Amino acid sequence: MICYLLSPRGYCFGVKRAVDMVNQIMKLYGSVYIIEDIIHNKLFIDNILKSGVIKVNSLDEVPDGAAVMFSAHGVSPNMANKAEERDITVIDATCPVVKELQMKVQEKSEAGYSIIIIGNRAHQEVVALLGYVKNDNVYVVNSEMDIDLLPNLVNKKVIYFTQTSMYPGDIKPIIDALKLKIPNIEACNSIIQEPFNIAHNICKDTLDRQEAIKLVSDKIDLLIVIGSEDSSNALSLVSAGIDSGIKKIIRIDSQEELNDDVFSEVENIAIISATSVAIEIVNSVVEYIKSKELFTIEEFSKDSSNNTENQQSNTSL
Ligand code: SF4
Repeated sequence: MICYLLSPRGYCFGVKRAVDMVNQIMKLYGSVYIIEDIIHNKLFIDNILKSGVIKVNSLDEVPDGAAVMFSAHGVSPNMANKAEERDITVIDATCPVVKELQMKVQEKSEAGYSIIIIGNRAHQEVVALLGYVKNDNVYVVNSEMDIDLLPNLVNKKVIYFTQTSMYPGDIKPIIDALKLKIPNIEACNSIIQEPFNIAHNICKDTLDRQEAIKLVSDKIDLLIVIGSEDSSNALSLVSAGIDSGIKKIIRIDSQEELNDDVFSEVENIAIISATSVAIEIVNSVVEYIKSKELFTIEEFSKDSSNNTENQQSNTSL
C-alpha cells in the first residue's frame, strides 16, 4: 500500500511571508495587534495568541502607539487610512497576489465598471476587495441562485473577478450563468485556463495543489487534506478531491484527528496540505502514518506524474 505525499505542500509564499512578518515583528515589538486571523490556520493562530499577539474586534480597540498587522487576505483601504490617521504602526501582510487583484478591482471600478466578485462574501479577502470599489455598483455572488438576484446590467460596463482560493470546477457554473444573464460581461483577465476553460483569479499555488489531487486521484481511495475548516483553500482541495471521484476524503487540522479507523478498507492514500499549513504539521501527519507501518511513502507532484506517463509511453513504444 502506498501513501503519496502531494506537492506543493506546506506554506505558499504569501502565507510564509505573513508568518515571517509576524515572527519578526514579535522580536522587535514583543507584541502586535491583529483584527482578523492573519492566516486561516487554527493551530497557528492559537499559538501566536499564546505568545503575545493580541486579537481585537476593530481598529478602535488598538491603542495609539501600538503596532497592528493586517492579514494575508488584505484589508479595506478605509481601515489602512484610519490606522495612518492615528499613531499606529501598520504591518501589512497582504499577499502580493491579493494586492494585485485589489488594484485591478480598483482600476476597473474607477473606470466606471460594475464589479461582480465571485466568492464567499464573509471571507476576509472578499470583504477587503469590496473596499476597493469606489461606487455602489458591486455585487458578490457565490451560487447560480445569487445571479437571479442581480439587477439588469445588460449594455452596461460590467466585469467579474474571483476570490483567489476557489476551485475552478465550483465557479464554472456561476461564470456560465453570469455570461448567459449578462452577455456583455467582461472576464477578469484574458487568460482562459484549462481544464474548465474559464478566466479566473485563482492563484497558481492553489491550482497546483488541486492539479496534484486530480493527477493522483485514480491511484488512491483516501485523500487526507490538512487544513482548517475556515480555510477556503482547504475546502477547495476537498472540492477538487470530490470532483476527481476520490471515494473517501477527510480534512484534519493535525495528526491528532487520525486513528486506525481512517485507514480501514483503504489501499493507497494521499496527503496534501492547504497553503496555510506549516510543513512541520504535515511532517507530523507523515510520521504518524509511517508509525502504522501500513504504507510505503512516495513523493508525488505534477512533474513526477508527467515523468511516469512519459516512461510508460516510452515503454509501450
Ligand atoms: S494561497 Fe495564493 S493568494 Fe493566498 S496567500 Fe497563498 S499565494 Fe497568496
